[in-house]
Amino acid sequence: MLTHPQRVVDAASGLRKADVAAYYEAVAPWLLPQVAGRPLSLLRCPDGVGAACFFQRHYRPGFGPGVRALALPDARGEGGPLLAIEDARGLQALVQMNVLELHPWGAPADAPDRPDRLVFDLDPDPALPWAQVRDAAVEVRGALAARGLRSWVRLTGGKGVHVVAPFAPGPDWTALRAFCRALAQALQDAAPRRYASGAARTARGGRIYLDWQRNARGASSVAGWSLRARPRLPVAMPLHWDELAECPGPAAYDLPRARQRAQALARDPWEGFAQCRQALPAA
Ligand code: ATP
Ligand code: MN
Repeated sequence: MLTHPQRVVDAASGLRKADVAAYYEAVAPWLLPQVAGRPLSLLRCPDGVGAACFFQRHYRPGFGPGVRALALPDARGEGGPLLAIEDARGLQALVQMNVLELHPWGAPADAPDRPDRLVFDLDPDPALPWAQVRDAAVEVRGALAARGLRSWVRLTGGKGVHVVAPFAPGPDWTALRAFCRALAQALQDAAPRRYASGAARTARGGRIYLDWQRNARGASSVAGWSLRARPRLPVAMPLHWDELAECPGPAAYDLPRARQRAQALARDPWEGFAQCRQALPAA
């Protein structure tokens, strides 16, 4: 049951809690494969965008049906059980709790020490033209392909893009981190004026910070089709690589446009992702 359906969630667009619920219902077939059965970090915004939002990753009984408590301890072994959802009912339970953003782990809840996807988070210096961020995403795709990995791309709805590659479970977090760190370092070594990946954690001087550190136990990255808690409710949108070249920016989709896209889509832009069983090579 949805309480306060008329409450305005985003003053810039006038979108209401009922619009958020309808959005997540419409995109559930595309979103759920990205999040179901994985520990989740949730960004909750009880007073809407712009007010105090907070991340939550622990189960609370108040979440209602469809939200599952996970027995595994969290990365620091504190705070009680983590949480997961499996279906559209769970998604609506999260909406009722004023969740706007969903951020899954890179491993399933039933095998939290066996990651099965990696993500490179491209964080550009805000001064950098978008076309160069697009080019960088294609370059990361190429670097992964050269190591035998097919990848998929999503806009973040914020400043950058994520390049994501699934792989067959087997390697542990240490092996995954070694692989990702080496790949980021190789890209930086080849183009030090375009990429940063070290300790600075932010991109300066027109560079793109290649954040490979999302690939850790307990870390997360935003799900494709998740809203972002920013004015006008942009969406972290999965794209087909062919769509990226035409895409005008990382926040090209807001809630209404993303909902239209979900309803008009004939094929998943991430077709093949869920079935992909490629092997992660050694670092
Ligand atoms: P942008 O393109 O604007 O960078 P982003 O989603 O990549 O959008 P980042 O700030 O780069 O945002 O963070 C990368 C990921 O790290 C996020 O998608 C999110 O899953 C995770 N993250 C960031 N901050 C937190 C936090 N405080 N708690 C939990 N997860 C977080
Ligand atoms: Mn980012």
